[in-house]
Amino acid sequence: MSAPTVSFSRNAANVFFHILTQCNLRCRHCYINPDQHGTQRLELATIQAWLGIMAERSPGANLIFLGGEPTLHPDLAAAVASARQLGYGSITIDTNGYLFHDILEKITPDQVDFISFSLDGASAGSNDAIRGQGSFEACTRGIRQAKAKGFRTSLIYTVSRLNLDELTAVPPLLAELSIDRFFIQVIGLRGQSASHGKENADDLQVSHREWEEQVLPVARQVADQGIPVIYPKVYLAPGEAFACAGRVADNYFIFPNGRVYRCPLCEDFPLHSLVFDQDRLVATAPINESDLFQLEIPEGCVMNKLIQPGNLTYSADGRPACRIACCLIKESL
Ligand code: SF4
Ligand code: SF4
Repeated sequence: MSAPTVSFSRNAANVFFHILTQCNLRCRHCYINPDQHGTQRLELATIQAWLGIMAERSPGANLIFLGGEPTLHPDLAAAVASARQLGYGSITIDTNGYLFHDILEKITPDQVDFISFSLDGASAGSNDAIRGQGSFEACTRGIRQAKAKGFRTSLIYTVSRLNLDELTAVPPLLAELSIDRFFIQVIGLRGQSASHGKENADDLQVSHREWEEQVLPVARQVADQGIPVIYPKVYLAPGEAFACAGRVADNYFIFPNGRVYRCPLCEDFPLHSLVFDQDRLVATAPINESDLFQLEIPEGCVMNKLIQPGNLTYSADGRPACRIACCLIKESL
């Protein structure tokens, strides 16, 4: 899993549930931070209790099972069945494609809306340099197995300087694998990416120009092939209104240590606004992410300015040359 896969919407709640942080891979840009997210694997009873609480709080929410690698959890199939019974609006499993514990034998295409696979290159050479030796072969094999069993599949491609040039080879790969939905993610400075500091930011983050000239044309090409494409807005057009999802949307990022964030950019810090305590969801004391959501700055997103100011540029008069959209706002084609 690289990143969440359901679009920000004012009308739909999204529950991103990390049921463990363990993973068989060590991707260069992994956002999991065990110091902040814990290392435990949640018991099935706890998963079911938390699913029940979230279903009551946000009926019909979209649910995404994540890790670490969620298929490493031996009770994922039982968790999916529970979520279906609780009436979640959609259920997605985000996976690196290794599909442990014979998960495809234990769930049915009726139970999950999408299995979402992460690939960061259109070939083993580029993908495996980021995600690890053998991961391209394993992921594409997993996609083929899922398609053969009738599951709907998404593919998530996290764009960075390391794989930008390979993007043009993605549309034919999507067609060959019969992918149903394509997500483009943009690399964020969180977890592993953040730990390498500015040097890594320059190495990894694509510029505004690269985004416009190299990423968006590929998104349009994939859409022209008839495959729905979802990608983050990233930059606001001049005069376009800024909205912080923390204020106007209903997103929950749940981690195995009980922390529940409303903003993914806060996840490297103890800024969570909610926490599971003895299977009750309770608000945390200020100062937390909710206080940051209230701040208005000319650059747009406050957390972006705090943790990745390198993607901001300023005009001669000191005003931001472009404003950064909330990372949860997606566009679709
Ligand atoms: S597969 Fe996902 S959880 Fe595992 S290391 Fe890669 S990004 Fe992290
Ligand atoms: S990414 Fe920025 S704008 Fe979006 S919820 Fe977080 S703080 Fe708000």
